[in-house]
Amino acid sequence: MVRKEIRILMIDDDKDDFMIVRDIIQDVVHHKYTIDWRPSYEEGLKSIAEKNHDVYLIDYRLGAKTGLDLVKRAIEIGCEAPLIILTGENNFEIDNQAMNAGAADYIVKAAISGQMLESSIRYAIANTNHKKEMQELNAALEKRVKSRTISLEETLSQLKKSQIELIEAKNKAEVAANTAELCSRSKTDFLSCMSHEIRTPLNAIIGFTDVVFDTNLTKKQKEYLNAIKTSGNLLMVLINDILDLAKVEAGKMTFEYAPFNLSNSISEILQLFETKIKEAKLQLTFKFDPNIPEFLIGDSVRLNQIILNLVSNAIKFTKKGSINIAIQMLNEDNGNVTLEFSVTDTGIGIPKKNLSTIFDKFQQATNETSNVYGGTGLGLTIAKQLVELQGGTISVKSKVDKGSTFSFILSYKKIKSKFETENKEFVPKDLFGSPLIKNVKILVAEDESLNQLLISTILEKFGFEIDIAGNGKIVLEKLRKNKYDIILMDLQMPEMNGFETTYHIRKSKNPAIPIIALTANVTTTDVEKCRAAGMNDYVSKPINNKLLYNTIIKYITKEQLPKKRVKNEIHQIYTEQQLTKKKCINLDNLNELTNGNLQVKSKIAKVYLDEIPKLLFTMKQSMDNLDWDALRIASHSLIPSFALMGINKEFETMARTIEKLAVKKENLGKIKELFQKIDLLCTEVFCELKNELIEL
Ligand code: ADP
Repeated sequence: MVRKEIRILMIDDDKDDFMIVRDIIQDVVHHKYTIDWRPSYEEGLKSIAEKNHDVYLIDYRLGAKTGLDLVKRAIEIGCEAPLIILTGENNFEIDNQAMNAGAADYIVKAAISGQMLESSIRYAIANTNHKKEMQELNAALEKRVKSRTISLEETLSQLKKSQIELIEAKNKAEVAANTAELCSRSKTDFLSCMSHEIRTPLNAIIGFTDVVFDTNLTKKQKEYLNAIKTSGNLLMVLINDILDLAKVEAGKMTFEYAPFNLSNSISEILQLFETKIKEAKLQLTFKFDPNIPEFLIGDSVRLNQIILNLVSNAIKFTKKGSINIAIQMLNEDNGNVTLEFSVTDTGIGIPKKNLSTIFDKFQQATNETSNVYGGTGLGLTIAKQLVELQGGTISVKSKVDKGSTFSFILSYKKIKSKFETENKEFVPKDLFGSPLIKNVKILVAEDESLNQLLISTILEKFGFEIDIAGNGKIVLEKLRKNKYDIILMDLQMPEMNGFETTYHIRKSKNPAIPIIALTANVTTTDVEKCRAAGMNDYVSKPINNKLLYNTIIKYITKEQLPKKRVKNEIHQIYTEQQLTKKKCINLDNLNELTNGNLQVKSKIAKVYLDEIPKLLFTMKQSMDNLDWDALRIASHSLIPSFALMGINKEFETMARTIEKLAVKKENLGKIKELFQKIDLLCTEVFCELKNELIEL
């Protein structure tokens, strides 16, 4: 290894000292040294600035200045080479000052030897190099840290930017979601509102078409009329589909939970297709598994809707052959049955590639389908939604030109007790227009003049006597003056709607009169609302004449019906409890109390009929006005009436709970829920008591 030459500069005003040091240095054999000399502070500083040397030996005494001054100055001007102080005397103080000023070493001239000088120089150079390296390393490190910091800062600022963007995106998404929710809500509101507006005139169109059909018409006129009716019906189906879909999408589709006779319900639906089947020269068969219980609990209206959709399609897409409807029991346990419904046709079938999308919205098997067969592609979507929302599944199997089978599986609850009814007799074809039913006076509450005319025409055809009231207030007025057998009640009326009117009637002196709702929106909520308001039944618009007739005669009094039908005075809207329980009241207690005195008994019953509606009214009002005291007093006064009429103890407990909650002024929700039950019960009680009074 070639050793590098070390260049030394000695700054000393004494040339002899320089010569001594030079000689000593030259004796050193380990390194190659050159040594230069500058005699003054100024010359020394100048050379230092030129940086041509590796080490500086600086005498402590430099004329007016000291070696320490030079060391300080040299460092100030950026000298990195080691600066070694040479001094004549060994002075600890100077040594200290030299180190503080930044000198690399301190050597006493008198003690100088070659070895000592060499080791001092080498040590100083090594130390300086080391320092330099460290500085470079530090600088490099600092640079790296700096660049890392910069890139971290950049990443951080990117992150911050992304975070801001994310927050902005989230806010936008929230705004969009809110807007969408609002849009969806207004879409549903709009659709529901529009559907009512469209349905009302459409009902009139379809209804009057039926009325005109019964007049003398030429063949051509009948054809035109048929076309009007078909278009009207199609439009109605379309509106109903759109509304249903909007409801499903808005999550507002609810299902009724009421008992129904499955085989009757399906048979009635299939009857609607009789004419179409005959016209198309098709065969229709209905297979019903005899193991299926007669009565089930569930939503029969929605089931009918699904069947109606599938059978309509089957007829629409079948030119010849048959449509077979089958209901089979797949499973039965203590409480439930699982049924498979299938509609099989021998029609055009569906291409394999379309089977997977056939239940999607607006999907038709082929492009020509809508041209040839019409339709919108919504029926199956709705059927699928209705099945799935009730926890079931729907599927299709099909072969082009061979036919299709649409099947769905649904579970229903079984009714525990045997339900005694002769429901079939409620569809008395022989009674249609029968002279046996006489003197039936019906009050029709309907505000639309077209509908008034339509319903009067239908009812007059049945031979019923009718009176019209344009709103609820007029109904109440007419009830005060006249006697009616039944009320047909439109729900949406100005001044006082159908629900409110029913409420007032049930609290009046004639609370038992049967009320049948006429409604264009047969949703579960509406049916619930009708029931809660105290209506006995409902008939949906557009009115099916036979159904209206059958519903009316269900509620006609004993005198007007042939004897054997008396048993059938049963409301169509039941609860399971109502089915198993024959009567709400038990007058044994009252008999005992009055010693069987009919006069006293009837007096008490009349007081009950007078007072209880007032108490219920006060309770309702106090709940609306949050008048806790009035509520407490009224509920307290109600309590003895339950035992008096022999009503199930649970209702007395309900009244007591209301009283307690009213004292605590809390849980209005619970109070309302209990009140509704008591209110419903009282409606029943009034009917029963009124009948008892007639018999007394
Ligand atoms: P729409 O009948 O109003 O077009 P659907 O949703 O009820 O709407 O039916 C969607 C499509 O499925 C129909 O257009 C038809 O192509 C096909 N389809 C449904 N039922 C049948 C069937 N029984 N036979 C053949 N094709 C059918």
